[in-house]
Amino acid sequence: MTAALPLSKFRSLETPFYFYDTALLDQTLCAIKEQTVSRPAFHVHYAVKACTNPKVLTHIVNAGLGADCVSGGEIQACLDAGFPANKIVFAGVGKADWEINLALEAGIGCFNVESVPELQVINELATLKNCIARVCFRINPDVGAHTHSNITTGLAENKFGIAMQDMEHVIALTRSMSHVHFSGLHFHIGSQILQMDDFAALCLRINELQDRLEQQGFGPVEHINVGGGLGIDYADPDAHPIPDFQSYFQTYASQLKLRPGQQLHFELGRAIVGQCGSLITRCLYVKEGSEKSFAIVDAGMTELIRPALYHALHRIQNFDSQGSEMPYDVVGPICESSDVFAADYPLAETRRGNLLAIRSAGAYGETMASQYNCRRLPASYTTEDLT
Ligand SMILES: *Cc1c(COP(=O)(O)O)cnc(C)c1O
Repeated sequence: MTAALPLSKFRSLETPFYFYDTALLDQTLCAIKEQTVSRPAFHVHYAVKACTNPKVLTHIVNAGLGADCVSGGEIQACLDAGFPANKIVFAGVGKADWEINLALEAGIGCFNVESVPELQVINELATLKNCIARVCFRINPDVGAHTHSNITTGLAENKFGIAMQDMEHVIALTRSMSHVHFSGLHFHIGSQILQMDDFAALCLRINELQDRLEQQGFGPVEHINVGGGLGIDYADPDAHPIPDFQSYFQTYASQLKLRPGQQLHFELGRAIVGQCGSLITRCLYVKEGSEKSFAIVDAGMTELIRPALYHALHRIQNFDSQGSEMPYDVVGPICESSDVFAADYPLAETRRGNLLAIRSAGAYGETMASQYNCRRLPASYTTEDLT
């Protein structure tokens, strides 16, 4: 895959910038289609917050996926990119009135509701517009995922979602409201999950909850949304450029007891776009400390905040050196001590001007870029742009 990077084109471009390998993105989307085409109940929505680059969105629209949004801005970006409104779902714990109104006016497919007060506001705003909002409830399944604590979202006490014991109460409440239609249950247990057991545990919990609902006379719901969370191989992106979608979808197919006619929705973000993106940067200086060497590069936490925010480790490659590997602290220029991409990282001997790639940066990279230190937002290029 590295061979596919248009290195000679990179050299004439100002760094830092994002490069999206859209050929790999298309292959990833194909791999998803292979798993879902024979399972007509399965519908995949792309979790847009992972990457909202318009060129990337176009490929995802063309593959026929829906979109999972968490803000009015994302809904607008998806409408602009050509996602059909009825394939857009809107999640998030704090939806502002203008965002709810935008979603109602666009006629989105479903609101993923995370609290009772939110449900009441959606009902009020839908009443004013004389329309019916389709809602589904995000239930907190109390299933722990084996991932970083900052990205675990399914434990019992959490800002996200509605507690399991309140499920029947909120569904009953919906029936007393005139302008909301209850259509499903939503779950999301976390991100960067690589153990299929975690998804299997979610399936078992959903099976229990569905049985419980039916015993209490709440008929089968129209759809179940299991969120996203499938992880990628940050350590070796070339060995695993495409996530193991077969095991992922097979886990749900074999463990989740879907009712006849019920739809199963997925909201994958990182697994779709993570591996196709690289942050391309140049080494500005190599500073020899007394104990170690610092490779100071022109990208920083303003372009890719994951290492500073989650202690994430991305693979880093030097395209311009065949020298033997030495340990470097690869750091950015931002005035924060946490602006470190990797500590004691083995890199081929690195010099000023060398071109480096920080890999697997397609998800939660460009979307989290900031202008701290009056930095410019990073440019981005795709395979089409550079061929
Ligand atoms: C962030 C998020 C996702 C996507 O998570 P990934 O780990 O990128 O797949 C899906 N659903 C919800 C509700 C989210 O908040």
